[in-house]
Amino acid sequence: MKRCIDVHAHILPDCFIEAVRSGNIEDVRFENRESGKEVLIFGTSPHPFNGLFHDQNAQIGWMDRNGITDQFISIGPRLFFYDRPLEFAAPFCRMCNDEILDRSRKSNGRIHPVGGVPMQDVSTAIEEIRYLKDQGVSVVQIGATVNDLNLDDESFIPFYKAVSDAGVILLIHPLIENSNIRTKRHHLGNVVGNPFQTTAAAYNLIAGGIFDKVPGLQVLLVHGGGFIPYQLGRLDHAYEVRPRAEFLCMHEPSWYVNRNLLFDSLLFDRTMIEMLLAIADPSRVMFGTDYPYDMADTDSFLTLGNDDAIEMISYRNSERILLSAAER
Ligand SMILES: [Zn+2]
Repeated sequence: MKRCIDVHAHILPDCFIEAVRSGNIEDVRFENRESGKEVLIFGTSPHPFNGLFHDQNAQIGWMDRNGITDQFISIGPRLFFYDRPLEFAAPFCRMCNDEILDRSRKSNGRIHPVGGVPMQDVSTAIEEIRYLKDQGVSVVQIGATVNDLNLDDESFIPFYKAVSDAGVILLIHPLIENSNIRTKRHHLGNVVGNPFQTTAAAYNLIAGGIFDKVPGLQVLLVHGGGFIPYQLGRLDHAYEVRPRAEFLCMHEPSWYVNRNLLFDSLLFDRTMIEMLLAIADPSRVMFGTDYPYDMADTDSFLTLGNDDAIEMISYRNSERILLSAAER
């Protein structure tokens, strides 16, 4: 099988599922639906649950059926728990990281770890980055916001320096509950809210001068980079016409795109992927599916006409950027 590396896939670790079943995670529970299906409930909001979220054999079977040789797995974003006390979040995070590492070790090289960190406490997050680096982890996932803070908050700069020094890629993932959109009808919190959060997170990092302070920081944006590629002209125009005091960055926003941003290819449509590739250098785009959610996409990028771009997106870029980083 030709190599195909999925950089954007999620699981619910067994340690989390067991903790929920034992009643050890406040405000999270399983409910049985009349259909016989189990649903996970976070507070009042349901989260899908089936074998693909936790059964590694089912996951490998799905990968085989979809022509995917490798997956980078991270926890589902509902498990960030940034709003919980550190006494809970730090050990929970470590437990999930250790299980993801263990799954990777038992996968014959097909599953690769994406770490998580308790962002509610920067010094603990930095300790976890060092631990993950020692374990050979090359990607760490964080949210698009941390409680009430945007990602350009000064308090995060030591964290970004630690990430950059470790040579780790930072995957930024939105969380539907943080979308700040008044209605959730029409799946708006996901369809519009998620790309909005990604857009705001990347723009804040750029305009907040984070990439000037930490030039080595490499950030992987999911869902094709949200609206960043399509609205880049607007961001550059604002930099030109608005008072300089509103911006901490040294260059116009587009300057950073092919220096600090990486993108997954999750755009569902060949034309959209071609638009992304008109803005982002094809060497900075990697195949991602969002497995195993219903908003996953497995094959739209394969309809691209350019064979070179397909090879780069499907495995060459992730081999160079993520797998080689794990060996360093
Ligand atoms: Zn995702």
